Amino acid sequence: MYFGCHLSSAAGFAAMGRQALALQADTFQFFTRNPRGGNAKALDPADCAALREILKENRFGPIVAHAPYTVNPCSANPEIRDFALRTMRDDLDRLSHLPEAYYNFHPGSHTGQGLQVGVAQITAALNAVLTPEQRTVVLLETMAGKGTEVGSQFSQLRAILDGVHMPERVGVCLDTCHIYDAGYDLVNSLEDVLASFDREIGLDRLKALHLNDSKNPMASHKDRHEKLGCGSMGFAAFSAMVRHPALGALPAILETPNDLPGYAAEIARLRDANKL
Ligand code: FE
Ligand code: FE
Ligand code: ZN
Repeated sequence: MYFGCHLSSAAGFAAMGRQALALQADTFQFFTRNPRGGNAKALDPADCAALREILKENRFGPIVAHAPYTVNPCSANPEIRDFALRTMRDDLDRLSHLPEAYYNFHPGSHTGQGLQVGVAQITAALNAVLTPEQRTVVLLETMAGKGTEVGSQFSQLRAILDGVHMPERVGVCLDTCHIYDAGYDLVNSLEDVLASFDREIGLDRLKALHLNDSKNPMASHKDRHEKLGCGSMGFAAFSAMVRHPALGALPAILETPNDLPGYAAEIARLRDANKL
């Protein structure tokens, strides 16, 4: 398993690579642009090349580019859906300089249209933005089911995957806080949760993990991340996950409320658990 955390891209791409190395990380995640929306800087090809060199030399696993939270391809508002398409297309365009990165996004909130319409609109958006020339693999993130979020049940992600025209280019990122909040008992029933993921989606579609403890109890649908071991899940749940053979080769990203030394400590603790 590869371990890393969410990093700020403010200082550039190679800078994130060096920062990850300093944290003993061999993967990391960054926002493709301001998470609350706004325009994105053009990518500096030299900076991207420098990062790619760092990734290769230090045997990093895949890294993860996270779409902004304002992307909602299944809003009832057509302008918001249009913004989602433009943003995703532009992000994918920019990420062509960084083929090592997955492009992870929150499937969306149906804002009252219902799950079926939500699933159909998310599928249509993926089919509209994915092109054969493009190499990036896009990841649907599992959600907590806050409000009208789509993707809190594995069956909903399956329905989206079933409708995409280029299935080999779409995978899933499993966020532990989100699925615990959605009602999957990662603490007491890891085997059952992975078995249902495998049955409903297929473990071969699982491409990345977000490792976060939750501030709230199971099935609370809240989506409030906590430091590993400080929330309702507890560290043992993460220790079991990082040792699980089915999850062995994945990049695992921390999105816990931490500063950089806090992330370094969590990465070290996960590496220890991984070796047990
Ligand atoms: Fe996310
Ligand atoms: Fe997440
Ligand atoms: Zn979250």
